[in-house]
Amino acid sequence: MEEKNGELSSQVRSASSETKIYEWTLRVFTPEHQIIVMIEEMAELTKELVKTLRDKKNISHLLEEMADVEIVLEQMKLVFGPIDYFYAKKKKLERLEKRLENGDIEALK
Ligand SMILES: [Mg+2]
Repeated sequence: MEEKNGELSSQVRSASSETKIYEWTLRVFTPEHQIIVMIEEMAELTKELVKTLRDKKNISHLLEEMADVEIVLEQMKLVFGPIDYFYAKKKKLERLEKRLENGDIEALK
């Protein structure tokens, strides 16, 4: 249990230091600029996903673009409301889980 608590507090510390970096970035570059960066990063991820389908050896570039998108997405959560985002995601996951439980595969495609 102590080891799990240590792991959890390490994760909380890490999340908290990531949040500081996201907040710092938003202060330096402004939320409006980071929205543009989000759009650019999503386009780059889209491109890498297509390239990965063509050439399965492209995984390292794909992972880099996934990380870029996640980093800016974390900033977008702070800009548009992390608590509202949390509930929106929770609702989506609950709906997905229900569809999976009901075998409603067509709705998932
Ligand atoms: Mg990128």
